[in-house]
Amino acid sequence: MRLSKFFIPTLKEEPADAVVASHKLMLRSGMIKQLTSGVYSYLPLGLIVFKKIEQIVREEMNTIGGNEFFLPALSPNELWASTGRLDDYGDTIFRIKNRDLVLAPTHEEVFTSIAKPNLISYKDLPQMWYQIQTKFRNEARPRSGVLRGRQFTMKDAYSFDSSWEGLGESYKLQDKAYRNIFSRCGLKYFSVTAFSGAMGGSESEEFMVESEAGEDIVAISEDGSYASNIEIAVSKANIVSRNNSDLNYEEFYTPNIKSIDELADFLKISDKSRLAKSRVFVNPSKEDNNVNEYVLVFVCGDDEVNETKLQNIFGAAIRPAHPDELMEITGADAGSIGPIGLKKENIRLVADLRLKDSDELISGANKNDYHIKNIDFKRDAKDISYYDLRVVKQGEYTIEGISKIRVTKAIEVGHIFKLGTKYAEALDAKFLDKDGNENPVIMGSYGIGIERIAASHIEQNHDEKGIIWTGEIAPFKIMLISVNPQNKLICDSAESVYNDLIKQEITVLYDDRVDVRPGFKFNDADLIGIPIQIIIGEKNLKNNHVEIKIRCSGERIIICKDDLICKIIELVSKY
Ligand code: ATP
Ligand code: MG
Repeated sequence: MRLSKFFIPTLKEEPADAVVASHKLMLRSGMIKQLTSGVYSYLPLGLIVFKKIEQIVREEMNTIGGNEFFLPALSPNELWASTGRLDDYGDTIFRIKNRDLVLAPTHEEVFTSIAKPNLISYKDLPQMWYQIQTKFRNEARPRSGVLRGRQFTMKDAYSFDSSWEGLGESYKLQDKAYRNIFSRCGLKYFSVTAFSGAMGGSESEEFMVESEAGEDIVAISEDGSYASNIEIAVSKANIVSRNNSDLNYEEFYTPNIKSIDELADFLKISDKSRLAKSRVFVNPSKEDNNVNEYVLVFVCGDDEVNETKLQNIFGAAIRPAHPDELMEITGADAGSIGPIGLKKENIRLVADLRLKDSDELISGANKNDYHIKNIDFKRDAKDISYYDLRVVKQGEYTIEGISKIRVTKAIEVGHIFKLGTKYAEALDAKFLDKDGNENPVIMGSYGIGIERIAASHIEQNHDEKGIIWTGEIAPFKIMLISVNPQNKLICDSAESVYNDLIKQEITVLYDDRVDVRPGFKFNDADLIGIPIQIIIGEKNLKNNHVEIKIRCSGERIIICKDDLICKIIELVSKY
């Protein structure tokens, strides 16, 4: 491809509204252009990369027996209502105003509706179906460029099995394919166990790329034996010991003390574990009687409530109480709430396992500006139940107590779920087993974000000058720079190298632009980040030499023009 004919609007300046590296560099290298918040046009350079990723994904899906489909983005409301997801997705689903249709954020329902009349016997199973298609999600905060778009490309795959063992096999095949895909895309990745409750599944794994640009938080052990999304991560946490002092509880005045830190300062203590932090949650009624369940959650003062763990226990709909609800439920504002003297009756009390049967606790008095000390959960909160409810922290040990945990940010590039029978049951997709009994089809669902892979690659492979593509997803293998095409010797040599590379089927972007200063060409080459640059300039040519520059290391090789193609063939397999 000749740069003189290629539409690649590179930018010299940092785009003002981009924060993360991949967003800045995709804009600056002319890969994408924003149309509106979370919606991007893919320009030719970006499209080449995205298509390469799609092709890798397609090859790996076909290797495990995948059937490629292409389903519509539009789907009928009633199909989504039949699984309850028209409501569950809430505002995240785009609704068409003048038709009863939505723009699909995922395709479990549509694939299941195709399976239903077709996969009717155990002989029809297993099946692996997939598509590479545009998804629409009305993300509340689209940011970081294509890392979180409102329109993006996903490979979504679905397995259909007649047994749970079969699902296990399908899941393993996808897991292996995902590992091949991420390796081929040049990502340093790891997998973590993940929350699957909201999708109705049983087991799930997320593939993560460690990055400051990530919106997920993961807990990884130093010895590599443990990796989990923080949402469900567990650790070996110290139990707050029981002192058995049997002191009576006692209210005391704490003017304007609203936070645990303020309370600790006021009491002049550094260990906050006995300051029972209380938060009120509302679990909306599932029945018609409209009676909400109120849940008062306690964790140690040095911990945070893990809301995903709470959802796992009480269902996805549980939410923090609004400030005005707090007064109505407890009689106090946030910061003064506790287990004793609650305004409403029948409030469910739950506490983190660290607080199991603990005493000498301090918590709010359900009266603004007052706290109560010497609370004994065993004595004073008899109906309390205990669960793991806390967020794991950096430096804690794994459950086995062997290795320390590191907490870091990561980008979720893929997700595999064992869905089970949720969708088959909702849509009545059944098959006849060997004994002639009807059973729901057992499903798995497997998603990968195409643009997110590209952005993650850039997050992991860039420097202050620009992108550094490596391996299979580089848009071109070679950047050929004709330093000054108006010089006949340079122009002829560059043209002949260009033709030789094409003959060798080595992809090349040829900077043949006239009237562009060499410095500008070099900067663009570094910005676009093609792995190997060939620089044809006057000084070297006089000695029949050309220069090769390796983008990732900056290494420069001066080589005789006659040996160039041989050397390039060798280098292309390396970078
Ligand atoms: P997230 O937690 O980041 O919102 P998700 O868990 O909702 O993602 P899935 O439904 O598991 O995402 O979708 C499968 C894959 O699609 C994700 O692993 C990710 O690579 C990609 N993806 C999801 N949402 C977006 C988005 N808004 N923009 C770009 N890619 C996305
Ligand atoms: Mg996910």
